[in-house]
Amino acid sequence: MKKRKILVTGASIAGPAVAYWLARQGMEVVVIERAPEFRDGGQTIDVRGAGRTVVQRMGLEEAIRANDTGEDGIAFVDENNETRAEIGVDAYAGEGPIAELEILRGEFGRLLIEHSQDKVTYRFGDSIEAIEDDGRQVHVRFAQGSTETFDWVIAAEGIGSHSRNIVFGDEVKRRNLDLYTAYFTLPRGPTDGNVMRWFNAPGGLCVCLRPDNLGTTRALMSFQQPPSGYEKLSLDEQKAMLKEKFGHLGWEVPRVLSALDDTPDLYLESIGQVKMDRWSKGRVVLVGDAAYCASPISGMGTSLALCGAYVLAGELGRHADHADAFAAYEKIMRPFVDQAQSVPKFAPRLASPHSRIGISIGYAVLRMASAPGFKTLLKPLLSPKADAIELPHYQMPD
Ligand SMILES: Cc1cc2nc3c(=O)[nH]c(=O)nc-3n(C[C@H](O)[C@H](O)[C@H](O)COP(=O)(O)OP(=O)(O)OC[C@H]3O[C@@H](n4cnc5c(N)ncnc54)[C@H](O)[C@@H]3O)c2cc1C
Repeated sequence: MKKRKILVTGASIAGPAVAYWLARQGMEVVVIERAPEFRDGGQTIDVRGAGRTVVQRMGLEEAIRANDTGEDGIAFVDENNETRAEIGVDAYAGEGPIAELEILRGEFGRLLIEHSQDKVTYRFGDSIEAIEDDGRQVHVRFAQGSTETFDWVIAAEGIGSHSRNIVFGDEVKRRNLDLYTAYFTLPRGPTDGNVMRWFNAPGGLCVCLRPDNLGTTRALMSFQQPPSGYEKLSLDEQKAMLKEKFGHLGWEVPRVLSALDDTPDLYLESIGQVKMDRWSKGRVVLVGDAAYCASPISGMGTSLALCGAYVLAGELGRHADHADAFAAYEKIMRPFVDQAQSVPKFAPRLASPHSRIGISIGYAVLRMASAPGFKTLLKPLLSPKADAIELPHYQMPD
């Protein structure tokens, strides 16, 4: 059979993962990434359930462990930095709000690229400018000026995927969760230990500080508001907006806000999900957040991206006709995606209540989260159903 040539766009999680599995089946794979160079760091992500099975099949579990963030659990703290409730990593057999297998997104991306680069071509600083599917091949013009032809194009460009938008147009639907979150890195301080510290303030405001394995601290600030255009502001305007919204708070918020001025990596997003009735059109197919972002609230994005990459590549290897492969990919993944996306719209309000009394009730409920009876009751909220998929076994040469 003719050697297939595939373009994958996006080199974070889903892109390098699908590239790895395709290359293992002897296909020629080119991955392009819009960023001019590889970006380290990023925020903390969890590898759970079936996602963990995929990294085991890739032979990467130990490498992830070796680069683990070292986060031991969550402490919910008040203004005086007193712990009012805590949940350890072991509370839900390693699959609670902090999963046992946890790594910075950039670190994981680096591992995936290193694991595949002997068989996959990676090109940074490029993206698709124009794309034409003539029914037999896909012709791509790149932003860097070259043109090339591929058998299939796989877009793994995350929630805002431009190539997806070109191909699918108004088929792309978004479910907003009316929550803004800002992420950035700050110097580690004397109070930053091995647990994530979660501080809620009235008005639904939330500030979290998380340890990493790089000697810094990862900050997250969130507030509840429908999409209002903040994500389009300049970095300086976003910093000013955050200072205005959070400037009146106590605890360690003044430290966090003053670190904003010098942070190298502020990223603000309006949290939402991607909903699509189909994930492929002709010879173009989507994987990961580009197709079915479930949002960071679900705790499932990485595992969906890993499972989707594995199933898509496996089905492409198994079927002579790509249309059958894409249909099988969707059939296997759709129920798992639906389950992961079933985050209630009020989830942000539960996580960060608006009133002082609501915050106190939240602490009381969380204190019971590890107690036997309540554990079962709270499990759907605190431990995503990460193994609700039967992963096929594909014949893949080593
Ligand atoms: C703060 C935070 C916390 C999270 N926590 C968790 C968690 O605990 N558990 C979990 O499972 N998931 C979590 N997630 C979600 C998880 O990070 C994503 O679901 C996962 O990274 C999806 O991978 P992806 O490769 O599909 O997309 P992304 O990681 O978004 O990567 C997309 C890549 O495509 C590139 N790109 C974009 N546009 C183009 C273009 N036009 N051309 C070429 N390249 C392009 C981008 O630069 C990027 O490298 C979290 C996400 C965030 C932001």
